[in-house]
Order: sequence, then structure tokens, then C-alpha cells
Amino acid sequence: MSTIPREGIKASEPLRPEPATVLDVITETPNIKSLRLAFDDESLMQSFSFLQGQVGQLSVPGAGEATFAIASPPSQREYFQFSVMKTGVVTTAIHELRAGDRVAVRAPMGNTFPTDDWKGRNIVVIGGGIGMAPLRSLFMYLEDHRDDYGGLQLIYGARTPKDVCYLDDCRQWEAGSDIDFVTSVDT
Ligand SMILES: Cc1cc2nc3c(=O)[nH]c(=O)nc-3n(C[C@H](O)[C@H](O)[C@H](O)COP(=O)(O)OP(=O)(O)OC[C@H]3O[C@@H](n4cnc5c(N)ncnc54)[C@H](O)[C@@H]3O)c2cc1C
Repeated sequence: MSTIPREGIKASEPLRPEPATVLDVITETPNIKSLRLAFDDESLMQSFSFLQGQVGQLSVPGAGEATFAIASPPSQREYFQFSVMKTGVVTTAIHELRAGDRVAVRAPMGNTFPTDDWKGRNIVVIGGGIGMAPLRSLFMYLEDHRDDYGGLQLIYGARTPKDVCYLDDCRQWEAGSDIDFVTSVDT
């Protein structure tokens, strides 16, 4: 993992939960939902930057806080996305959120991928299930910087066809002429 460059650190206090609003909720699979969020503070939203692979802490009032990978690419400036698998107390509360609901977010945190070191090389990204969340951000970053890399291959597996996340993205990756996209299910 690379050292995080300065621009990956939010200018304001990174440990302070910032109010944010749910803009959209996407049902990806029976137990995974994606939430698109924006900070309520417009100037904070404009200056918010993160690096592909970094995470955030999402808290729901009255339920608690949990860690999630930022699943959107750094180039997406309108919102940031978390994809959440329902496993326990906080993730169940997150699955009950609707567009317009308010939450709090601490971000960005954690490490990134050493994408600078990969320049000029062929890249194979392999992910499965909810593990695709940080890799979606990474792969979209690689697409945004397509000329810096050689061949781009994405191999994505899920347990069953109904467990495949990001169907719209999958269709685009499948259609992309210069991307080798392979998807696989166990059953
Ligand atoms: C760096 C990092 C990044 C993460 N990114 C994501 C992400 O992008 N999307 C996502 O959905 N999750 C992600 N997780 C996992 C997520 O943080 C947990 O699923 C969440 O904290 C569970 O909180 P909860 O209150 O709902 O569950 P709890 O109420 O705390 O747990 C309920 C029960 O489920 C078990 N449990 C909890 N989580 C899991 C799990 N993941 N697998 C199996 N059993 C579990 C617990 O052991 C406990 O028995 C990430 C975790 C880390 C550390």
C-alpha cells in the first residue's frame, strides 16, 4: 500500500462526524444496498476528496456507526457511495434508510492502492460479492486514467446470479471494447 498523499486527507477535521443526506438508495441484491450521499455543507462537499480504496464511517442516529469502503470513484463529485451488506445492528438500520434521511459520515480514512506504481502495466482486478465495493472505485479510477495503463481486466464473482452487484456497471463494462470483463457465479 502507498503512503496517502496529502490531497487524500479532508481539509477539515477528519475525525469529526459531518452531517450528510441520503440522495438515493439502490437495491443491488437481496442483502446489499448502495447509498449515494452528499455532505450537507456544500463547501465541504466541494472540497471533499479521497483516494480509490479509502473508507468512511457511516453513522445512523440511534443505531451506531460502521466502516464501509467508498464505492464511487474520486472523479464523482456529485455524491459518494457506500455499498452495504446487511449483517447486524447498524447495517440493518442503514438498509431502512430512504432518500432524504440524514446520517453522519467521517471520511476519508484508510489506505489506497499503489496505482502510480502500476502505470504502463496490464492490470487485472479480481473481486467477489461485497468485496467489489472498493474495487468498483479502483476500477473506475483506472478507467478515468485509461491512457496510463496497458490492458484492463476485471474478474468479478458472486455466489448466484441474484448476488451480482452493480448490474448497470456490469453492462457498461461488458460493452466496453477496451476492457476485458469476466463475471462468474458459483451456481
Ligand atoms: C475496512 C473495512 C471496510 C469495510 N467495507 C465494507 C463495505 O464496503 N461494505 C460492507 O457491507 N461492509 C464493509 N465492512 C464490514 C462492515 O463494517 C460490517 O459489516 C459492519 O460493521 C457490521 O455492523 P453491524 O452493526 O451491522 O453488525 P454487528 O451487529 O456488529 O454484527 C452482527 C453479527 O454479524 C457478524 N458480522 C458482522 N459483520 C460481518 C461480516 N462482514 N461478515 C460476517 N459476519 C459479520 C458479527 O460477528 C456479529 O456476530 C468493512 C469493514 C472494514 C473493517
